[in-house]
Amino acid sequence: MTDAETTPRTGKRVLLANPRGYCAGVDRAVQTVEEALKLYGAPIYVRKQIVHNKHVVRTLEAQGAIFVEENEEVPEGATVIFSAHGVAPEVYEQAKQRSLRAIDATCPLVTKVHHEARRFAAQDYDILLIGHEGHEEVIGTAGEAPAHIQLVDGPDGVDKVTVRDPEKVVWLSQTTLSVDETLETVARLKKRLPLLQSPPSDDICYATSNRQHVVKEIAPECDVVIVVGSRNSSNSVRLVEVALDAGARAGHLVDFAHEIEDAWLTGARTVGVTSGASVPDELVQQVLAHLAERGFGEVEEITTADERLTFSLPQELKRDMKAAAAARG
Ligand code: SF4
Repeated sequence: MTDAETTPRTGKRVLLANPRGYCAGVDRAVQTVEEALKLYGAPIYVRKQIVHNKHVVRTLEAQGAIFVEENEEVPEGATVIFSAHGVAPEVYEQAKQRSLRAIDATCPLVTKVHHEARRFAAQDYDILLIGHEGHEEVIGTAGEAPAHIQLVDGPDGVDKVTVRDPEKVVWLSQTTLSVDETLETVARLKKRLPLLQSPPSDDICYATSNRQHVVKEIAPECDVVIVVGSRNSSNSVRLVEVALDAGARAGHLVDFAHEIEDAWLTGARTVGVTSGASVPDELVQQVLAHLAERGFGEVEEITTADERLTFSLPQELKRDMKAAAAARG
């Protein structure tokens, strides 16, 4: 018997977005902490939240990870992991000075943007970094070339931009922005700076754009879209905005199923469900169970992309894992 045959017909349904949840960079970062705990033993220090998700952070804490804000909080000689969002070069330097064993879990797609920033700065470009002020990723990328980079925080930030040479300017971006809003920011920048160059390849990552694309597909049919994700997760917050812009009547961000208010479902026939790139699928399954208990047991999964990308663990960790395996014989 299929689920549809076993689920009583209530006229209420869930449209479940696919792709959703964990991306390759988050998967790698979480595995990095887990493998480091197995290899070196607890405690393992992690600078900043490894990924922006409450549940993931609590789970790793229970296994022996200690989350800190800065390297100074890590005892000399201990192991520290840098989060998926990336760090400025001075953070590696501080770790060296404190003789920390540093493992870099920066997502390779963020590292790519760091490379671009270094390369254009070396060619003396002015770099307009589109991103959210204060976000860890932006702080890390800007730290690669502070004298060359200025932040453009969305379309309204365009008027403040000043450049030395309008023929030598490039824009780069944070990886987790709204695709549409970034296009708007770039269009406005190009009005002011017609010779503005674009990055060699998209900085907004595949996971961010795929999750936005599928939510745009389902939003027009939804009375409410529930996005599972944390408030400090840029790509999760963007999914709520994208859903509303694409026609969802309401949109809410929740960390956990129990945060869903019954009032949100009053009168609703179709509920959209998705999750940010730092969210394990068990949290989405709990949301589906919660909705099923309220009559939304019919679930239709809408798939718009097939994601197969994976990243290997950081070199420094792989090297130590290999050495440990060899020592065990
Ligand atoms: S959201 Fe994109 S950039 Fe961020 S960790 Fe995932 S794949 Fe990497």
